[in-house]
Amino acid sequence: MSRILSAVAWPYANGPRHIGHVAGFGVPSDVFSRYMRMAGHDVLMVSGTDEHGTPILVAADEEGVSPRELADRNNRLIVEDLVALGLSYDLFTRTTAGNHYRVVQDMFVTVRDNGYMVQQVTRSAISPSTGRTLPDRYIEGTCPICGASGARGDQCDNCGNQLDPTDLIDPHSRINGETPEFVESTHWFLDLPALADALGAWLDEREASGAWRPNVIRFSKNILRRSARAP
Ligand SMILES: [Zn+2]
Repeated sequence: MSRILSAVAWPYANGPRHIGHVAGFGVPSDVFSRYMRMAGHDVLMVSGTDEHGTPILVAADEEGVSPRELADRNNRLIVEDLVALGLSYDLFTRTTAGNHYRVVQDMFVTVRDNGYMVQQVTRSAISPSTGRTLPDRYIEGTCPICGASGARGDQCDNCGNQLDPTDLIDPHSRINGETPEFVESTHWFLDLPALADALGAWLDEREASGAWRPNVIRFSKNILRRSARAP
């Protein structure tokens, strides 16, 4: 008997999830977990609602409720749906739970204290009227490469090029149309190049044992290779 952690993707609590989401994140992991339990393994199938981030703030503003109220309601709706569908979670929690904060902060502090976090100054967009950060996909403008209007701050759907929001011509917020302000701020980054050798060796072991699918190994090694080339 082995102990198996079935770590299911966390549905985002900015609204109720539809059946297509459940088909993607819920059913495959439920089938896997049920099979492993029937085969006699000790399975822990865990997930919860992801209740942080700008889409929650935007949805709450639109409804005139607090982010907490919106997340409470959507958590309840999502849990009711998952229970009614018979999914066999052992634990379904929330990113606003106290132990979630403790575990996340402990991981961050441990990685930082061991020297694997680096600080970099980057330019990011904020909304001048609210002072809140505007994620790239909430900024729209004219593509500097193909000239299409309605290009997003992360990508132009017309020509497919990846963009930086500062590249856009006439950038504006998709939330309220105002021109974003670009400010410099300091962010923490995981020093992936410093961990590349150790992670590469760990992936080699997975590859040799055949425990992981070849496409997962290739995908992971590609990320390591690209991070090693980054400045
Ligand atoms: Zn374009």
